[in-house]
Amino acid sequence: MKGIVYKSTGSWYQVKALDGLDYNCKLKGKIRLQGLKSTNPVAVGDKVNFEVTKDGDEAIGIITDFEDRKNYIIRKSVNLSKQTHIIAANVDLAFLVITLNNPETTTIFIDRFLVSSEAYDVTTILLFNKLDTLDTNEFGEFKYLAEIYRDIGYHCIGVSATSGKNLDQVKDLMIDKVSVFAGHSGVGKSSIINAMDDNINIKTKAISEQHAQGQHTTTFAEMHDTHFGAKIIDTPGIRGFGMINMEKEELGDYFREFFALKSECKFHNCLHVNEPKCAIKAALQEDIIAYSRYKSYCQILNELEEQDQTFRKNP
Ligand code: GDP
Ligand code: ZN
Repeated sequence: MKGIVYKSTGSWYQVKALDGLDYNCKLKGKIRLQGLKSTNPVAVGDKVNFEVTKDGDEAIGIITDFEDRKNYIIRKSVNLSKQTHIIAANVDLAFLVITLNNPETTTIFIDRFLVSSEAYDVTTILLFNKLDTLDTNEFGEFKYLAEIYRDIGYHCIGVSATSGKNLDQVKDLMIDKVSVFAGHSGVGKSSIINAMDDNINIKTKAISEQHAQGQHTTTFAEMHDTHFGAKIIDTPGIRGFGMINMEKEELGDYFREFFALKSECKFHNCLHVNEPKCAIKAALQEDIIAYSRYKSYCQILNELEEQDQTFRKNP
């Protein structure tokens, strides 16, 4: 039988078969992941094949294999064992929920998330929430930010979980797709999801707060079906996607507007910092590239360089 993993609690997997029935499943022997050391070989969102069998009186499933993933999101293990944990697989859309204040979402946070989502090949849509709370100045700030991201090709929607403003637009985008909601604790992820579907009651806040304190939490991702034909993966591990390892030369490829111009830099391996005849720096001077984006780029580049140095000291 074929099905999709809706929930996983370590050794057990809840799989919804194509007939809509739920099966408790275990993994057959060892299903290994090619090239990826991961604590969980199969994750929420995976499309699996399974056989139904009896465990005493109970019908259970044995997962025999899973289909190739369109993409997956990982979290690095807290204990530095270099193991990764797959948070979710086959994600069509990531909604990054942003608030200008209470809490503040900075542009570096947004840009870091976008870099990871480009690298993971997950389409990200920016939701600017709590529009109902903005005064005229803040509304101007929202417009300004949204324009920066729209110009480089990201879909931006201003919403309010409280008033319901523009949530229909969000729902339309979600139909027939698997979505995740990311963003700082308190930006309104659970409020937005709960406002879209009365049957779903998600409490993300307490969990992500625990996460922020650096505690080791064993919480599991779970997929929900909405009444309007969408799937949502609710997961505490996805406040921001983990930054994946990359070469510093690659970073510019994940800033879309940089990537579009980089062939015009004099040096093909230009890092857009100190090199002469750099098309990115020229575009920055001409206000074609936003200063905040360039600043985020430099900051992430610095971090990659620092990681490189740490690695050289303790390989
Ligand atoms: P999460 O941690 O991202 O899931 O955030 P919550 O959904 O728990 O929301 C955090 C707080 O913000 C709660 O007190 C919500 O009532 C409030 N909130 C969420 N969305 C809105 C909104 O659109 N407008 C207003 N005024 N408050 C909101
Ligand atoms: Zn350059």
